[in-house]
Amino acid sequence: MDNAVITAIATPAGVGAIAIIRVSGKGAIELVDKVFISAKNGKTLVAQKGNTIHFGTIVDHNDSLIDEVLVSLFRAPHSYTGEDSAEISCHGSSYIQQQILQRFIEVGARMAQPGEYTLRAFLNGKLDLSQAEAVADLIASDSEANHRLALNQLKGNLSNEIHQLREKLLNFVSLLELELDFGEEDVEFAERSLLRNLMLEIAAYAKSLTESFSLGNAIKKGIPVAIAGKPNAGKSTLLNTLLKEERAIVSEIAGTTRDSIEDLIVINGIGFRLIDTAGIRESQDTIETMGIERSFQKMEGASVIIALLDLTANAQDEVDFLNEIVNRFGLNGKTILALLNKADKASSTIVEQLIAKQIKTAIQVITISAKDGSNLNELHTALTNVVMDTTKLHGDVLVSNARHFEALNQVKIGIERALAGLSNNLPNDLLSQDIREVLHYLGTITGEITNDEVLGNIFSKFCIGK
Ligand code: GDP
Repeated sequence: MDNAVITAIATPAGVGAIAIIRVSGKGAIELVDKVFISAKNGKTLVAQKGNTIHFGTIVDHNDSLIDEVLVSLFRAPHSYTGEDSAEISCHGSSYIQQQILQRFIEVGARMAQPGEYTLRAFLNGKLDLSQAEAVADLIASDSEANHRLALNQLKGNLSNEIHQLREKLLNFVSLLELELDFGEEDVEFAERSLLRNLMLEIAAYAKSLTESFSLGNAIKKGIPVAIAGKPNAGKSTLLNTLLKEERAIVSEIAGTTRDSIEDLIVINGIGFRLIDTAGIRESQDTIETMGIERSFQKMEGASVIIALLDLTANAQDEVDFLNEIVNRFGLNGKTILALLNKADKASSTIVEQLIAKQIKTAIQVITISAKDGSNLNELHTALTNVVMDTTKLHGDVLVSNARHFEALNQVKIGIERALAGLSNNLPNDLLSQDIREVLHYLGTITGEITNDEVLGNIFSKFCIGK
């Protein structure tokens, strides 16, 4: 990183009521002064305190007016980046935005790289790496659950815990290494039973965090829900009713193939991705040829499987279908919900009795009508509960970031090796090597240990201006 004053438009491209242009770095306030004329005669920004706002104009090199603006001033270290910074609120024409940006560059600033503001904040110790990553997640969050996940990470719950465990372990490894200095002498500075307890604590924490990843990741991307059912059970009717009801199709996730179009619906603040297991969106021909086997393959990727049974069809056939799903997926940690459809036309008694008799697993049975939408609120509650129940297991901190997940897996492997070494009275130098590896991976999560490549990777995914 250089020490340049950087600048970027922080608001989205295009026309808005106002736009914000950021300037940050040592000398940023002096730089803004070169193009800013205060509404108060003779007032300069350099003479002003931080956390203040000033009204005036930005002028071009001929002192001609570009726009009337408000300048918010922040002084190091009390700014997002930790540096002297200013945010210029101007009118939202793209012409004005470009002109102002251009002026800052003329007087010595350079364009910020994607994520460079947050990178500087990280390098200046304003936030750690996992918090910086949470900033990107927060900007991208499109549901309440997603938002909460990012906020928790931004608050630093994960980083604090990891930082503390790492410090304790670091302390132990220093003692171990100190023992090495005493060579032949029989000294023990690092009490082995305490070291073992600490490592067990770290192992348990890493395990619970890695286990939370499938949920955390699912919340981030939307919990994958597959709707399975035999032809004519009402799958497309249910899908359409759910989508229409929620009126919250946030996106059709781009880049997926035609036969796996997925839609996101938000129920009680949680995003669910509906997986089209049967190619219902395709032509009638394809549905015919698709076959049940292929639908099963798609269910592999789901956290929740809705088995949609048709109350107007042969009861035994429908229950056989449910049975097949339970046999295949019941033990895979997936939640299976049995939905008895077409309640407007038939009663659920026979099917329910058959389910009770033939299917041992405790699965929730809900009777609905996909067509008239009745009783769908019970389905909503069941879907929400899937997330709530799992969230309770993990508490506040869920890992939703693949990079953290990888690092935690390495922590688990390293700790196991170190624990085995401890049990086998491995020589100190080898033991400390194993522990150092654990320290390394813990440190990569918070960014206490990092390199340019990792940073480049993380911050290049940010938008310019953040
Ligand atoms: P899919 O093949 O599983 O996608 O089934 P469809 O959604 O195409 O539905 C098959 C037929 O069942 C259509 O004629 C629907 O109108 C009808 N259907 C679906 N759900 C219901 C329901 O809840 N009640 C009634 N009476 N008919 C339904």
